[in-house]
Amino acid sequence: MAAHDQLIVAAVLVAAGDGVRLGADVPKAFVEVAGRTLLEHAVARFATHPAVRDVVVAAPAATLDRAGSLAPGATVVAGGADRQSSVSCGLAAVAEDVDLVLVHDVARAFVPPDVLTRVVDALSDGADAVVPTVPVSDTIRSVDAETGDLGGLVDRAQLTAMQTPQGFRKDVLVRAHAAGAGVRATDDAALVEALGVRVRAVAGDERAFKVTHPLDLALAEVVARG
Ligand code: C5P
Repeated sequence: MAAHDQLIVAAVLVAAGDGVRLGADVPKAFVEVAGRTLLEHAVARFATHPAVRDVVVAAPAATLDRAGSLAPGATVVAGGADRQSSVSCGLAAVAEDVDLVLVHDVARAFVPPDVLTRVVDALSDGADAVVPTVPVSDTIRSVDAETGDLGGLVDRAQLTAMQTPQGFRKDVLVRAHAAGAGVRATDDAALVEALGVRVRAVAGDERAFKVTHPLDLALAEVVARG
């Protein structure tokens, strides 16, 4: 691990999604896998990582007490209507003296600690923005959303899938969210890139998959039980 003892790291865990695609009757962060909620699994990974000092959770506004009891030691704030605004809400609660911020989807509850280490190491090495990525295994084509007609084949050797935690120098991320207030971006790397900041890729991990659909819960049970 690089020497990043002097840099103060906070994690912003976004947990305010409703999980409609999962078909659960509770917000996704409160869905249980192997006897613990996704929120607990995710918080444990960050709270026990030696590089992370603070954890902030952006939870559904109606569930702050529950989220607080599942995330002891974390600062819990209300999230927003979309992921980007939930990140902004979390970011606003990050302590003044923090240097680096890791933004993570609680839906990626099983991210291995090595991924956090690689992201923090790359930031400590001077990167302004870092994203863990994994190769794309499917054959990918564009499609006309209206007609369903297939477009050209996209060479998957040139593609990579974005994961989280995405790591940033805090000042860069704060600027990106301020500048991107009227824009809709699906991740923070895209917001930061819009400022002209270079984003560095590091190796992600398949276990950092995002729990999205019901079948993902079966995989999550297997991964959680190690
Ligand atoms: O919906 P999706 O799975 O893409 O969301 C990714 C992450 O963003 C999840 O951890 C979800 O809880 C979070 N999110 C949020 N606030 C929203 C929507 C999504 O914190 N309004």
